Amino acid sequence: MSRTEALARADRLRTSLLDHGVRAVSIEIQQGRPGTPNDRWWDDKFVAEFSHHTVSRPSNGATPVLALCKSGRLDVPGPLCNGYGGYDRVYRIICMGWANHPGSGGPVTMAGYRIPADQARPYAWGTEYEGGIEPWTDEQLEFHARSNAGILDWLGRPAEAHGEHKDPWAPGRKVDRLTITRAQGIAQIRPYLGGGATGAEDELSAADVAEIKKHIDAVLSGSARGVWTYPVGNPLPEGGTTNPAALVRVAADHSVRASEALEGGAEQVWATEVENPLDPEGENTNPMSLLRVAADHSYRASKGIGTIVGLLEEIRDRLPAPAGGEGVG
Ligand SMILES: [Zn+2]
Repeated sequence: MSRTEALARADRLRTSLLDHGVRAVSIEIQQGRPGTPNDRWWDDKFVAEFSHHTVSRPSNGATPVLALCKSGRLDVPGPLCNGYGGYDRVYRIICMGWANHPGSGGPVTMAGYRIPADQARPYAWGTEYEGGIEPWTDEQLEFHARSNAGILDWLGRPAEAHGEHKDPWAPGRKVDRLTITRAQGIAQIRPYLGGGATGAEDELSAADVAEIKKHIDAVLSGSARGVWTYPVGNPLPEGGTTNPAALVRVAADHSVRASEALEGGAEQVWATEVENPLDPEGENTNPMSLLRVAADHSYRASKGIGTIVGLLEEIRDRLPAPAGGEGVG
């Protein structure tokens, strides 16, 4: 029962991470440290996330410290972290309860919540990122930022709820993450925050429908530059993919899956399943998120290959009518 609930929570986090452009997410949960409620499987008090580094080099392999993060050491029992990010840029969800990560530190107040001295386990989600000796590549730093943004949006918390282990929790005692200040960490996260729905709700609200229609109307009316820049949460960085065929494939995939979630029939438009590089297992089932990405990719594809208006019109026609009012500010 408690494990089932923990898995459900992990799945929602996984969806959020994928929505923020993390290339793959694996759920490998184990029980938390003693004191974790719910039979040690999960807690719901997290109000912040801390980033750590493992002290490893890429030449050590893709996931050199993963096993240690799970099992811990004789003197420091695992799990050592809630989540883990390897050189393979796969985010692994390790523990939905208390992990060993913060140690002594604090007290600190982060975005309005006070975390008491030496008691951050219930309040701070901790991620161990491989590295800490050599500077990270831009690619790796982007993975960290997207992961942290996905965690914060899953928690419903702002960028200021991000901390490095050393700042603000344990200055002087800790150095991780290497060379990155808390302010830099926050700045790196900010572009990706709001990048996707949490996946917690599978039903479209009237406000969701109104927002989707707004995006599609913007594409169809030719003013889609605003769709691309804001507020569509496309996990691909701007200009990251300019190949029209790739854009159409992603748009088609999202459109099909969105229409299925909406009980629609976009299968008629796109007869074959296509592989979505952002969501290889096809488990993102939040129609809102799928439609946002579909609209964005459709627009950018149409710039390259002509028109994709019919697809978008069909999606729009299949949306349920909003129950009164605009609902979107
Ligand atoms: Zn640390």
